[in-house]
Amino acid sequence: MKLLEDRIITDGKILGQDILKVDQFLTHQVDYQLMKAIGERFYDVYKSSGITKVVTIEASGIAPALYTAANLNVPMIFAKKAKNITMNDELLTTEVFSFTKQITSTVSISKQFLTKNDRVLIIDDFLANGQAALGLLDLIEQAQATPVGVGIVIEKSFQTGRTRLLEKGLKMTSLARISAFEDGKIKFATADDA
Ligand code: 5GP
Repeated sequence: MKLLEDRIITDGKILGQDILKVDQFLTHQVDYQLMKAIGERFYDVYKSSGITKVVTIEASGIAPALYTAANLNVPMIFAKKAKNITMNDELLTTEVFSFTKQITSTVSISKQFLTKNDRVLIIDDFLANGQAALGLLDLIEQAQATPVGVGIVIEKSFQTGRTRLLEKGLKMTSLARISAFEDGKIKFATADDA
């Protein structure tokens, strides 16, 4: 997605070897017009796939997931990282190791929101080693729902996530695919929606 790649070049900041900071438009301040365009792009790819739920993980997946769900006209569910006292329903839970925080947290979705009749699209802001998406896949499988595909805003293709998700037989749709950080510059591979 050219608009997204241009924005990454303008506002993305490389941190260390393998982290991209995009807090100008995605992970802290959110550009709703860009999110709207991202939601439309995922809709174009998945509109005929019979999706009934869009699932993401809090917090930065929520914005692109919500615009995607709005276009598909289905609910968006975000897996929660901390249990709170209002979560007294039966829960589907799994463990997810966070690439950016370097900690493992328990994430959960209430059983009432995901059932065996659901066809699910996973959406997330970043794909690194696939832990977040694989955790969501685990929750979907626990619910005996059908995982249809994974939509990623920014994939770092030099990490292992894509291969691991393709091995699970999932359709991958990454709107920007970063092949390398080279001499302080961002190199792109061909995006899945190109
Ligand atoms: P994974 O679970 O695929 O290893 O990593 C994806 C998750 O880690 C995303 O949900 C995102 O929150 C975070 N993440 C991974 N790489 C980056 C990065 O380069 N920049 C930012 N801002 N978040 C990242």
